[in-house]
Amino acid sequence: MDVSDKKSLNRIRTTILLVTILSLIAAVFVKKERIDERKLLNGLSGEGVRFLEKQGHPPHYPSNTDVVAFNSYDIVPSVRGYGGPIKTLIAIDSKGIIRGIRIVEHRETKNYVHYMLTPEYLRQFVGKSVKDPLEVDRDIDGISRATISVRALTKTVRLSSRRVARELFGIKTSPTERASLFELKPLAYLVLFLLALSMYYLTRKKKELLRYRKGFLVLSLLVVGVYISTPFSVLHPLNLLCGNYSTSLMWIVVVGSTLLALILAGRLYCGWLCPFGAMLELLDNLRVKKWKVDPKADSRLRLIKYLLLILLIPLVVVSKKPDYATFEPYLTLFSLHGNLLMWALVLLMVVLNLRVRRFWCRYLCPVAALLGILSRHEDGYPSAPSCPMGNPGKPHISECIRCNICYGSRSSDSE
Ligand code: SF4
Repeated sequence: MDVSDKKSLNRIRTTILLVTILSLIAAVFVKKERIDERKLLNGLSGEGVRFLEKQGHPPHYPSNTDVVAFNSYDIVPSVRGYGGPIKTLIAIDSKGIIRGIRIVEHRETKNYVHYMLTPEYLRQFVGKSVKDPLEVDRDIDGISRATISVRALTKTVRLSSRRVARELFGIKTSPTERASLFELKPLAYLVLFLLALSMYYLTRKKKELLRYRKGFLVLSLLVVGVYISTPFSVLHPLNLLCGNYSTSLMWIVVVGSTLLALILAGRLYCGWLCPFGAMLELLDNLRVKKWKVDPKADSRLRLIKYLLLILLIPLVVVSKKPDYATFEPYLTLFSLHGNLLMWALVLLMVVLNLRVRRFWCRYLCPVAALLGILSRHEDGYPSAPSCPMGNPGKPHISECIRCNICYGSRSSDSE
């Protein structure tokens, strides 16, 4: 098998499609782990409170005191974080005071929300009234790099507890919410995406504009990696396959723009927007002597990313656990959170990148595999010695990140 061969790529494409279909079918037959809410209610609101069976409308657990508990998902199922609803058990008393809170299920990216899940963070809700603002940065602490998830959790608590307080205890609260029309981060991402698309089309016509490429990569690294810290990840499509989607503007912009880029210009995301790819390419400026990779070995090694994707799809879709795919080094790096193994992977990729251009993108990245295999074929990319992907002459379009360095020039082998 060879990644420059059209037939091999078609075989990989068919395998991925088949694996996806079979995984989706298998997922229907695999029973989801049932969460025993009654057990989780123990100790939710202090000693001496014993919860009874779930009942009534809105569904709730009455107790031997004036405290009731409920699962927020029964009350406000439409409120979603970055990976779907954040199902939370909440206890409130007849005065509308929150007496306990526990997150029971979520699909947020672990690296970003680890602090949000801790008892210390959740404790700030306890003792607040349903009449309090219950808003991030007003009476609830925000967490940088987990803004969407924290806002979704706060909204979940605010809306569900107010509705239960209104309908069970007759406490007057506002049933309506002020919708926020302006969000800076999705807007920044959208502007950067439009700039990337413009740069892509302009550099095909005016080669001189390629001198701004490095500057653009710095911008992508700072905006997508540092400021927004929400790069496109294989978790986006895998979560979608598991039926988890988000209604947050950021998610819609990131997923929508990557799809649009794929239709218009294949792996444009990899070449112009991915902050990890940008960082790796910028590190090339250190001019460390590169290893000479045997073209045959290089071609075989490039297959690893497809194999990884083929393994990940059934693992995540059948088990319905996207957490299996949180090893991507950009998640660790830009969330500033990961275990020792994850940080070791980041370091290893940086070191190997100094010797082999875009080592991660070339051999291991599941996003590269997915976007590559879905790229439309286009002529005009013969590769060049300065190809950031180290592509040989006339590469298959799946290996091209559309940097346009070689667009329209004569074929020449690189490395
Ligand atoms: S083949 Fe050409 S356009 Fe594609 S990544 Fe290499 S140099 Fe850039």
